[in-house]
Amino acid sequence: PLALLADPSLLKTDALINGEWVAGSSRFDVTDPATGLKLADVARLGATETEAAIAAANAAWPAWRAKTAKERAAILQKWNALLVQHAEDLGRIMTAEQGKPLPEAKGEVVYGASFVEWFAEEAKRVYGETIPTTDGNKRFLVLKQPIGVCAAITPWNFPIAMITRKVAPALAAGCPVVIKPAEQTPLSALACAELAQRAGMPPGVLNILTGDADSSIAIGKVLCESDVVRHLSFTGSTEVGRILMKQCAPTIKKLGLELGGNAPFIVFDDADIDSAVEGAMVSKYRNAGQTCVCANRLYVQDAVYDQFVEKLAAKAGAIKVGNGFEAGVTQGPLIDEQALAKVESHVADAVSKGATVVVGGSRLAGPLGERFYTPTVLANVTSEMLCAREETFGPVAPVFRFKTEAEVIEMANATEFGLASYFFSRDIGRIFRVGEALEYGMVGINTGLISVAEVPFGGVKQSGLGREGSHHGIDDYIELKYLCLGDI
Ligand code: ADP
Repeated sequence: PLALLADPSLLKTDALINGEWVAGSSRFDVTDPATGLKLADVARLGATETEAAIAAANAAWPAWRAKTAKERAAILQKWNALLVQHAEDLGRIMTAEQGKPLPEAKGEVVYGASFVEWFAEEAKRVYGETIPTTDGNKRFLVLKQPIGVCAAITPWNFPIAMITRKVAPALAAGCPVVIKPAEQTPLSALACAELAQRAGMPPGVLNILTGDADSSIAIGKVLCESDVVRHLSFTGSTEVGRILMKQCAPTIKKLGLELGGNAPFIVFDDADIDSAVEGAMVSKYRNAGQTCVCANRLYVQDAVYDQFVEKLAAKAGAIKVGNGFEAGVTQGPLIDEQALAKVESHVADAVSKGATVVVGGSRLAGPLGERFYTPTVLANVTSEMLCAREETFGPVAPVFRFKTEAEVIEMANATEFGLASYFFSRDIGRIFRVGEALEYGMVGINTGLISVAEVPFGGVKQSGLGREGSHHGIDDYIELKYLCLGDI
């Protein structure tokens, strides 16, 4: 699938340190999840190269921070333009290594670029403060300065957007970055890095360290333990988030963590049911259910339960599953065998405890079957089932029945996670009550799509720390410095 790139030089397989492409002493395979075939072998780096990248970033820092915000913004704007211009090729690379349908992949490229555009603009709005004095002989000022070398460890489900969302605010603020993309999707990251180079990013300001699962652990350890790295931003599982937080404790590193979710999706009986079904479709089945904001538990009120399940099953059953490059396909493969095994275990557990499979419930039949799971709707689901507690991360919609508003709020909040939540209602009083009562960082009301660059994305409880995107998203990469001027 990569033979058809309009610009083949976007296909990079070496890592990027200090503006140089680095082959590393060994390589690892990147495969196409739709076919299992090898796409490329990519540089497998370790601790030594990580130290080199951190040193290069640190050396590049003084000149990068000394540029005016407008100069940094100009480079970011150019990068944004190149990302959009090459959306077709970047989309192809992404579909090849990640599996999502090509139109969805191109959509992610544009969404990912929007963070670069947004933070290029925000770079110019990092205002300090003067504070009214309480002592006539003194003046109080606050400067905002870049925090220093920043590290980013990113997942495979959004191979570009999860990088730009972290890296663009860091670069805008005046910080150099070291990025460790997911082992499944390094090619998208490297193609973005190539475009950053073309946009005029100075050597050492943006570095990419690639590695397989084992070397990712080694690279991560060095990034966490480094005294020079002042901020680590991570998107991935809560389990790995805990490990990284622990590893960062000795150096009191600032952390941005976007971890797991267990999103409730509530349909009240006063909702527009067709719109709720549409919302559930995008929230649940986008990226084959592999996003941390995907609806994980669907709660539908008694009076509209049967109607909702029937309509959702009809739509889910119509999803075209297949290779993401094939025209008309709206759901690709799952990322790997482990992901499929988890989905199968959630479905088997639910069925063994009394749930019914309304549609789907198995791997796809036929030659493509191995890595594909059919869009599934489960009815008569109860809170005793695994899918009520754990993130399924696959195309399975378990539908729970509820009676009262109070009851569903309690069920929705009964989780250690708190990332995204959704509900559908047309009652304005209820919209406020439920919107305020849900213990989540984000609430989609009458919509299943909530993420854009202009809003704060993030979770409460064990879903993470900090917010990405919006004018708040740059704060993590900035330190406040208080200047007290005496003897006036
Ligand atoms: P997922 O479940 O989405 O695969 P992970 O949390 O396992 O999420 O992985 C997200 C990112 O974290 C990937 O880039 C992966 O290489 C990296 N990673 C996984 N384990 C570790 C670790 N122990 N130290 C550093 N990085 C890690």
